[in-house]
This record gives sequence, C-alpha cells and structure tokens, in this order.
Amino acid sequence: RTLTDINMLADEYLRLAYHGLRAKDKSFNSSMNTDYDPNVGKIELVAQELGRVLLNLINNAFYAVTEKKNENKAGYEPLVQVSTKRLGDWVEIKIKDNGKGINESVKDKIFLPFFTTKPTGQGTGLGLSISYDIVKAHGGKLEVESQEGEGTEFSIRLPIDTQKY
Ligand code: ADP
Ligand code: MG
Repeated sequence: RTLTDINMLADEYLRLAYHGLRAKDKSFNSSMNTDYDPNVGKIELVAQELGRVLLNLINNAFYAVTEKKNENKAGYEPLVQVSTKRLGDWVEIKIKDNGKGINESVKDKIFLPFFTTKPTGQGTGLGLSISYDIVKAHGGKLEVESQEGEGTEFSIRLPIDTQKY
C-alpha cells in the first residue's frame, strides 16, 4: 500500500479511460466534468487496485452514454462526471453518467460475477464484482443509484484511516 492522492488518481484514470476508448474508436466522444475536493487528501491504499475500480466504473459510464447516444435522440449530450468529497473520516468518489441507466430488474444482479448485459466480447461481467471486492477490502463501500433512461451514479466511499483493513 502507498499513500495515494485520491484526486490525482481519479483524474489519471478518467484520462486513461477516455484516451483508451478514443484510441479504439475515433468516433467515441463524451463530455467530462470534474469536481475535486481539495480536502480529500491522501489515503493509504493499493493504488493499482483502486485504479482498477475507477477504470471499471468510468469505462462502464462511457459505455452507457455511448449506448444512449446511439439511440440518436435529439439534443442528447453525453456527459460523465467524476467528483470527490471529504465526508468526515471518509472520502467519497462519485462517477456519474447521463447514459441509458439500469433497469430495476437487473439492478440487484450487477455486482454478481459474470453478470453482463453487453454483447458477447464486449463485457465479461466481472468489473463490478471485482470492484466491489476491492472497495470492501479497503474497508469501503460501493453503491449505485440509477434511473433507467436518465443515468447512473456509482459512489465509492473509503475510510481515510485504512490501517485497520
Ligand atoms: P461488464 O461491463 O463487463 O458488463 P460490469 O460488472 O462492469 O460488467 O457491469 C455489469 C453490468 O452492469 C453491465 O453489463 C451493465 O448492464 C450494468 N452497468 C454497469 N455500469 C453501468 C452504467 N454506468 N450504466 C448502465 N449500466 C451499467
Ligand atoms: Mg464493466
């Protein structure tokens, strides 16, 4: 574990995800918005593991906005927002998109290993289950709120003092 600047890590993985998708598909496009709380500071964690969580969540968000964009509804502007916030002894990282959202009937299943709604070859269904385990191993919580057709928000909450975990 290393002392990691959460805002820097979040921004690094947002760029990594965006440029990764652009490299694969020149037509990929989404607006991005960031709001980093300077009081978030550093947390003792496995940066690579938390990076993997961020990459999973951000890639899912970009996928969801691309799917909604492909519906060709007039005036739709894809947007992914990444923000951080200090909440007492906790840090919250939010990944919010205005993509296609999650259907109520699948909401309970998304954290299960191998659950995916993506076509074969486009998703393993492992991203969220691995992310859930990684966040839990850091003593944190991973939660989702979603409105079908409107968008989705994932929040990662991590204790600042992770020494116990
Ligand atoms: P995968 O991305 O390989 O499908 P994940 O575990 O990352 O696997 O996600 C599981 C499922 O959860 C996705 O197939 C999708 O149905 C749903 N999902 C995850 N994130 C989002 C999101 N931001 N918007 C809409 N659906 C999502
Ligand atoms: Mg995924």
